[in-house]
Amino acid sequence: MNASALMAQREVIDTLGGLLEGNERFRAGEPRFKRDIESARRAAPSQNPKAAVFTCVDSRVTAESVFDCDFGQLAVIRTAGHVPDRAAVGSLEFVVSELGVPLIVVLGHERCGAVGAALSAVEEKSHDPRAGYLVEQLWQPAAQALEEAPDEAEPLAMRLQIQRTVADLKRRENLKDAMIVGAAYSLDTGEVTLVDE
Ligand SMILES: [Zn+2]
Repeated sequence: MNASALMAQREVIDTLGGLLEGNERFRAGEPRFKRDIESARRAAPSQNPKAAVFTCVDSRVTAESVFDCDFGQLAVIRTAGHVPDRAAVGSLEFVVSELGVPLIVVLGHERCGAVGAALSAVEEKSHDPRAGYLVEQLWQPAAQALEEAPDEAEPLAMRLQIQRTVADLKRRENLKDAMIVGAAYSLDTGEVTLVDE
């Protein structure tokens, strides 16, 4: 790796560290940003987000709050269970290539409804037609979790789905310039912890 690539990598690691520091401020109840109309106006002229968060649609998971980021600092892409469908991947490709975002955090969370629906469907061996696409997409991690750890299937399925999403994104040629990491959010403590590949 040459010197400029090394420096770029160090910068991305600093950015990730900055997000985790923001999560510490959030948990301590000491957010730096109010994200009010003044912040919105300051950010309005142009955007230069430092990271993208690919997370679930769950209303309890708010990336800007969780990482204590201001307007203009995070690009957030959401699908239930962070299933990397075409529009989500295309959106990530857009923020990496057009906005130059060097870091993607795949953020899963506890007690995910989409993962829960897939676990139920696997247990009952039936696809719920209302959740057909998602259940299909989440079937594999749900089935694997139920087989490997029936008593801890929910947290394991979450972790597997984070790892799976990270691996999927890492295979994408158009995302090769970005660092991609997995993380899990605790609804109860507000803590974000990195998830190994
Ligand atoms: Zn969820």
